[in-house]
Amino acid sequence: MDVESFFSEKRTWADGPYLHFVAVLDDPAYVAYAQAHHELLAPYGDRVGIVPAPWLHWTAQGVHHRLDDGQVETAVQAVREAARHAAPATVTMGPVWPGPSAVTVAMYPEEPLAAINTLVRAAMSAVPGVQLRESATRFWPHSTLAYFRSPSVHDAEFNRRLRTIRPERVEITISRLLAVHMYQDLDVGYYTWTPIAEIPLGAAEADAAAPEVVCGKTRTTATYGTTPPWGDSDAESEITVGRLAVQPPLSESQIRYESFASAALDDSTYFEDAEPPMPVWPDPVTVVCERPYGDGVCGSTRLRVRGSWNSPAVIICERGHSWQDTVEMMREVIVAAEPAR
Ligand SMILES: [Zn+2]
Repeated sequence: MDVESFFSEKRTWADGPYLHFVAVLDDPAYVAYAQAHHELLAPYGDRVGIVPAPWLHWTAQGVHHRLDDGQVETAVQAVREAARHAAPATVTMGPVWPGPSAVTVAMYPEEPLAAINTLVRAAMSAVPGVQLRESATRFWPHSTLAYFRSPSVHDAEFNRRLRTIRPERVEITISRLLAVHMYQDLDVGYYTWTPIAEIPLGAAEADAAAPEVVCGKTRTTATYGTTPPWGDSDAESEITVGRLAVQPPLSESQIRYESFASAALDDSTYFEDAEPPMPVWPDPVTVVCERPYGDGVCGSTRLRVRGSWNSPAVIICERGHSWQDTVEMMREVIVAAEPAR
């Protein structure tokens, strides 16, 4: 059977990244489902681009030409407004389809996903300068497990082996979209992105009373150890913080002074007159959203932080702008949010 290489000339983007609206498929059940196929795919080496867990997604709609920052902001706001009238979609992932240029995962039922696609298209069509590709007569919701990078992958043997895997299908709920700058990463053979903004499907939940979190001041084994202090290290939490601050790192001389002072303080006879002055820590800096908004930057400090003990913090401002921070920040926010446990 003749198959295509996915990143053919006609599919290669001229000047990406391009604005896309995706749902990140990071549900651990779906990640396990996808990974159940990796053993089959691994022997094909770089003839396939296996999509790693962080990049599993469903594309609700993409734009395939460049936009300026103002157009991106307008499009994101338009989709955000429209998405308030949408609803989360619960769908079944599977079965797997070996297609002509990629291995894809079916998503059913199709209607709620098609409805989200229609809504995003309608919102974006109203943005000056945005041109969408013609829509298919019937929207095809799918998620890609792997892209073929060579025409010699997907033979009869490949199909037979794929058919023997058949993991149980999994149900997931898509409750938010992520606006991203989408890249075709031709070196690895799949798509990657940088996040722009998160968009809830349906009205956003009310803010809960939120703790202030200062990260980086108490680098303890509790926050930096490999095991969580409680619970499942892969369980996702989303925590609203009243103010998120980061402690700038100490300078080298401050670190030396700290260790000198604490060693000296252990020996109470060391200081003849008085204890040395405490080292001056730099003031914590409040985390501010720096995404463009209107004529300037967003500037929001009302933030939510999402992730698990083992995943980097995703920080989302009140306008839905989102960006990624470190695993360490996520751990400190988890510890700060549930100090009693
Ligand atoms: Zn923002």
